[in-house]
Amino acid sequence: MRLFLALMPPPSLRGRLGALADAAQARCGGRRMPDESLHLTLAFLGEVEETRAAALVDWVSRLAVPPGEWRLNAWGRFQRPGIVWVGGQAPDPALVALHCRLWDELESQGLEGRPSRYVPHVTLLRRAERLETEGLPTPALTWRYRHLLLVRSFTRDDGAHYATLARSA
Ligand code: ATP
Ligand code: MG
Repeated sequence: MRLFLALMPPPSLRGRLGALADAAQARCGGRRMPDESLHLTLAFLGEVEETRAAALVDWVSRLAVPPGEWRLNAWGRFQRPGIVWVGGQAPDPALVALHCRLWDELESQGLEGRPSRYVPHVTLLRRAERLETEGLPTPALTWRYRHLLLVRSFTRDDGAHYATLARSA
């Protein structure tokens, strides 16, 4: 099964991220992520066997994540897949540290696939027609988090759907 570790926005923030996605789509076109799918990926694990997934559920359930506040104050783009995102002007140090710690622990469990760089971001649009975020109002949101989730991703014709398998302690 296809798994990743993520932060899910609290309900109050989800709507505000959705409003940013609407504003971005009006300008850039493309496919808008549905509100219920908006998230921050901390670590993408890819395809994982069932027994390993069970061990990951155990591990995540015991994991203590330092609570934090992430400031979302910048638009970003990834050229190749045409992604428009919202995130920080610079990668947030606490999130980068969390990503590194998670990958240290994942590697000690035998997982592979640690990326060479990590830019914390929330994808708002895919396959954007115009990667032009200039002129959009500068985002100003604060995301307070306490838990991370182990999430399973199902691919369907209308895009990916996510199901939560575990939550950190
Ligand atoms: P779809 O691929 O169907 O458009 P999706 O990207 O939302 O949908 P997944 O591909 O399962 O679904 O990805 C789950 C999460 O992991 C997303 O946040 C995605 O951006 C991220 N992700 C996917 N592949 C990678 C990768 N190779 N490296 C880092 N993050 C990834
Ligand atoms: Mg994908």
